[in-house]
Amino acid sequence: MANYYLNTNQQPNGDYEVHTGSCLWLPAQSNREYLGDFSHCSYAISEAKRRHPSWNRINGCKHCCPGCHVS
Ligand SMILES: [Zn+2]
Repeated sequence: MANYYLNTNQQPNGDYEVHTGSCLWLPAQSNREYLGDFSHCSYAISEAKRRHPSWNRINGCKHCCPGCHVS
């Protein structure tokens, strides 16, 4: 299990990134939203999409969520 966070700042390529709480690239507290504790990043991404249905580019961070990163 891991804590997952959503970076609420859109990346230059249009993505919103999901990170684990221990990722080096985790954004500052003011720029992130806690998604919950999940056993796999795919659940965190589903939760982020449920909360932000208009954000159609939610992607896993390639460093901490390589299984959910779509390049
Ligand atoms: Zn990350």
